[in-house]
Amino acid sequence: MVLINENFLQLKDSYLFSTIAQKRAAYQAAHPEANVISLGIGDVTQPLCPAVVQAMTDAVAEMSRAETFRGYGPEQGYDFLRQAILEHDYRARGVELDEDEIFISDGSKSDTGNIGDILGAANIVAIPDPVYPVYVDTNVMAGREIKILPTSAAGGFCAAPPDFHADMVYLCSPNNPTGTVLDREQLAAWVNYAKREGALLLFDAAYKAFITDPALPQSIYEIPGAKECAIEFCSFSKTAGFTGTRCAFAVVPKALMGQTAAGEKVSLNTLWNRRHSTKFNGTPYIVQRGAAAIYTAEGQKQIRQTLAYYRENALLIKNALTELGFTCFGGEHSPYVWLQTPNGLTSWEFFDLLLEKLNVVGTPGSGFGASGEGYFRLTAFGSHEQTTEAMERFKKYFGKK
Ligand code: PLP
Repeated sequence: MVLINENFLQLKDSYLFSTIAQKRAAYQAAHPEANVISLGIGDVTQPLCPAVVQAMTDAVAEMSRAETFRGYGPEQGYDFLRQAILEHDYRARGVELDEDEIFISDGSKSDTGNIGDILGAANIVAIPDPVYPVYVDTNVMAGREIKILPTSAAGGFCAAPPDFHADMVYLCSPNNPTGTVLDREQLAAWVNYAKREGALLLFDAAYKAFITDPALPQSIYEIPGAKECAIEFCSFSKTAGFTGTRCAFAVVPKALMGQTAAGEKVSLNTLWNRRHSTKFNGTPYIVQRGAAAIYTAEGQKQIRQTLAYYRENALLIKNALTELGFTCFGGEHSPYVWLQTPNGLTSWEFFDLLLEKLNVVGTPGSGFGASGEGYFRLTAFGSHEQTTEAMERFKKYFGKK
């Protein structure tokens, strides 16, 4: 019989979203009249903007004619999208990159998971907690030793460099689930750590479009020296509503080196190019045309409107909760509000209370790591109406009686 990858047996089952769905369904079945509002999802709800839809429609028309039909494209992505990224995401922020350092993909989930293919199994991996669970699970699958970096309210839920060695470090800023953002100083401390330890930073910037403060970095390459120690992951999912359409990119600078066990230096860009073009056949042309449209003047205006819509929700949640005396993180520069549960309730006890007393669904913080216990995530991706109604229910229940 075939042998399996036994590392998979070490994975902890993730019941987070299935348990939420089950609890919600059971409550709704018992209370069919209840108007349950979900502020739990991490998925966008606003449609693709008109500029993206038009670009995709035009690309479909191109595909329908023999003269303009396209089959396989470059695995790394089309020039028009890579150039738009270089110009708008990087040059505009003072970062110079080459086109062959950008790899278009079908998502940051795939990229943050797949990057492990080019990295040795003996590397020690440091992962902040709480955080997007894909980093832990993909490294468990690879059999790497994981060292958790617990974060807490005292440190603003921002991971700081540890006093031990790691070879790979995942950073997520703005963070899912805490909504906290690493500032220039904090990122510079990580770049210094990486240089000192010879570590590779894996910087997930999936929520960078939510950052409004110009002083906050949107790319780790805004920190001098980062090109020699960091890979960056960006996604069109939350920036422009591509969660269902699928488009993202990874930046692997040519200055980035790894080494063999014998100490021979090898370019990570070369390895990733080989891995990407061997196991991936390109993001669809139609999708890449849609993604490129967000960089036009019209596209920028339109995605900014949608981002502003979510930001308003985030602020509404944050302000309402703060007024009620909750301790909150995030909610600015992020679609996530991270709140401390009242009266020492566990994350799941608070989930049950919200569902039963307020008919509001959120996400228990403990689902994102042990340091999330006693915390709870609400998201700004609902409608204004639902968000407002949910906060009215909070005020009624938690306000001074
Ligand atoms: N990175 C983080 C931190 C996320 O929260 C998510 C999705 O929720 C992703 C990556 C996945 O992005 P994509 O839709 O591009 O796969």
